[in-house]
Amino acid sequence: MASPPRSLSISFFVLLIIPIISARTSFIKLPGSDGSRSAATNTYCESWRLAAETNNVGTWDVIPSICVDSVSEYLNGDQYGSDYGVIADYALAFAKTVQISGDGKDVWIFDIDETLLTNIDYYKAHGYGSIPYDSNSYNEWVVQGTAPAFDASLRLYNALKKLGFTIVLLTGRDEDQRSVTEKNLRDAGYLDWERLLLRGREDQGKSATNYKSEQRSKLIVEGFKIHGNTGDQWSDLLGFAVAVRSFKVPNPMYYIP
Ligand SMILES: [Mg+2]
Repeated sequence: MASPPRSLSISFFVLLIIPIISARTSFIKLPGSDGSRSAATNTYCESWRLAAETNNVGTWDVIPSICVDSVSEYLNGDQYGSDYGVIADYALAFAKTVQISGDGKDVWIFDIDETLLTNIDYYKAHGYGSIPYDSNSYNEWVVQGTAPAFDASLRLYNALKKLGFTIVLLTGRDEDQRSVTEKNLRDAGYLDWERLLLRGREDQGKSATNYKSEQRSKLIVEGFKIHGNTGDQWSDLLGFAVAVRSFKVPNPMYYIP
């Protein structure tokens, strides 16, 4: 049998194959081909975030560079606020089981940054934790005093006050930021806390874990009972003189030992 002319064979091949390639590429999304992240990167970054939240990473300085987009999407999407909401619900469910003595000694401790107030506008402009912490630019942000509340944290705060808890705010911010911190908190809706504890001169150089443990210890010596503690860092919650229940809210942007 005579074979078709060579040019005809090539034309037939082109006619047959090109539509198949076009059809395939129209519905098969190749990783990264349109600027999207690969499925493997997404999976890795979700796992990294879980490992960071559960303190399995240990001390870390910056987020993995391949996870900047993933962390940004988490923080700017619905999941971040939803996570705070679920944690607030569990904290409140526990709080309702506490027998309030009525002597003003039943305490709930809150950290401030990334717990009551969100600094996402600052981190948005500074790589979401992908570049090393810069105290100068961060302090410039803090003194503006414009950090908003997390909705769920404000809801929890007000519900705890209604239940009769005494609210203590324990922050790593310095004493010289007291007035701007108070104003920011009030502007954001937080009112009537019992104490605002900031780092004094004698606390400089201490790890957050030690500084916060010492402050909790002093409260216990004064007769306060620390039922609950909410913070975005493990150093808000661990150490000594810990609360009966500790509630860790998420923070995939930075780690404070
Ligand atoms: Mg914090």
